[in-house]
Amino acid sequence: MARYTGPVCRLCRRETIKLFLKGDRCFTEKCSVDRRTYAPGQHGQGRAKVSDYGVQLREKQKVRRIYGVLEQQFRGYYLKAARMKGVTGENLLQLLERRLDNVIFRLGLGASRKEARVLVSHGHFLINGRAVNIPSYIVRVGDEISLSDKSKASLKFQELAGALERKGLPGWLELDKQNMKGKVLSAPSREDIALPINENLIVELYSK
Ligand code: SF4
Repeated sequence: MARYTGPVCRLCRRETIKLFLKGDRCFTEKCSVDRRTYAPGQHGQGRAKVSDYGVQLREKQKVRRIYGVLEQQFRGYYLKAARMKGVTGENLLQLLERRLDNVIFRLGLGASRKEARVLVSHGHFLINGRAVNIPSYIVRVGDEISLSDKSKASLKFQELAGALERKGLPGWLELDKQNMKGKVLSAPSREDIALPINENLIVELYSK
């Protein structure tokens, strides 16, 4: 499973917005974007005017980084989205939202998508009662996400169960806090994906 292993706050600074890649730290004054509002690197404070291509590229990089997807896999999502019925940009975001690691994060069972990805790959979750340890697994409407019996007994999840409160749970997901179970009620709509993304720029980039 290929993944980015470099400094993650640098990615936020490069996109000059908070991508919320570090969980709780992102909500503290230690956040690097709040402390240094310019892009990283030697020329970070003096970049020239950005071309149309540059704007499209940055939008694509931003979305890739939010969801923690590498280039090749992201292109695969785009190609799949383009083959689906409907609006390609919205299809692309919907596919990314339906990734299991994102769903775990949205349910509040992981502090960040990165942590959720690790938890999934360590086999903590079941989909419809069957173990799934693939973070890129795409959930479907009606899927039930639960913890394995072994994980329910672990200290981490017991502590989480006491404090589990997911503000802003999207309307397409349901959470049973007591049993730490989630359910996919519907496919995510564009309105459910409240992220500062202009997906049309990504479509324009890949359409060239
Ligand atoms: Fe991004 Fe979070 Fe680091 Fe802030 S603390 S720069 S939001 S990863």
